[in-house]
Amino acid sequence: MKVTDHLTRAEGKTLFSFEVLPPKKGENIESLFCNIEPLLEFKPPFIDVTYHREEYVYRQHPNGLLEKKTVRRRPGTVGICAAIKNRFDVDTVPHLICGGFTKEETENALIDLHFLGIDNVLALRGDPIKSEGRFVPEPDGHSYACDLIGQVADLNKGEYLDQEQDDISATDFCIGTAGYPEKHFEAPNYGADLRYLKHKVDRGAEYIVTQMFFDNEQFFAFERRCREAGITVPIIPGLKPLTTKSQLTMLPSAFYLNLPEELADAVHLAPDNAAARQIGLEWCISQSRELMAHGVPCLHYYSMGKSETIRQVAAALF
Ligand code: FAD
Repeated sequence: MKVTDHLTRAEGKTLFSFEVLPPKKGENIESLFCNIEPLLEFKPPFIDVTYHREEYVYRQHPNGLLEKKTVRRRPGTVGICAAIKNRFDVDTVPHLICGGFTKEETENALIDLHFLGIDNVLALRGDPIKSEGRFVPEPDGHSYACDLIGQVADLNKGEYLDQEQDDISATDFCIGTAGYPEKHFEAPNYGADLRYLKHKVDRGAEYIVTQMFFDNEQFFAFERRCREAGITVPIIPGLKPLTTKSQLTMLPSAFYLNLPEELADAVHLAPDNAAARQIGLEWCISQSRELMAHGVPCLHYYSMGKSETIRQVAAALF
């Protein structure tokens, strides 16, 4: 079932969903299932599975020469979506990115998803490859998420890249897109970022999931500005409980976000990671409670491979 249908059916009740990462190459899928199982009691209508593009690594040969190799550490997003759906009978949302894909490869991935009975995709541009300073699309790939959204929307109308037959069948994907309460780091200003977001919705995105944020005022302002800009689709806040002291610097540098002074000071002064985690947990619970009271359609949690803290947040709320 589509994410938007789940939201409609909930009739104003806030839903609970979360995102998982594919296991590292060579790891067993059972560890992922073990991470998901404790969260099922909170009845997630859908689970997102992230997509991880290739990285460049340099291997040294015995003669001292360096060989540049491409590696993907967490492949398998499509297969994992199908496996989760089969195992738990929960809808899945594969993340689909522009980076590393030609349009034809994107179309083939969408055909696979369609055959697997997966009804949703979260369409993203993807970040630049770690060693590259800026995002470089594939030759004949998409430069921005709006174009990927356009391709999925075309497929939903039965418009394939190369129409070889007349009795072509259309897909029916529900398309999600990303939004940034604190602005995407590359956007020249907040207004431009919002215009591009509106464009993504105009091209076919049916709901927005936000980047994580730790100050609800940022979300409320973002939501208000979206509505003023004529964006009417559901906006799902993305949340992450802070769990270690090192995340005080890691989260802002990886996700270009601000941590409120009150939270950052408390975590900074915490004697150890256990105390920091408790502070992060309580902060996330109170953020979630306020967002529920505000009437958000769904609370979406970034698990980053670990579900226990999210289970504790959900247990306090649902
Ligand atoms: P876009 O919407 O294309 O925007 C990228 C930048 O270009 C922005 O600055 C925007 O303002 C600007 N822009 C947009 N459209 C145009 C245009 N037409 N002309 C000029 N400028 C434009 N990354 C992964 O690799 N895998 C994942 O699984 C993943 N999951 C994510 C899930 C969520 C909920 C979020 C919020 C992010 C996720 N990301 C993921 C990260 C995301 O790929 C990066 O933030 C990426 O840098 C931007 O992706 P986007 O889809 O927002 O890009």
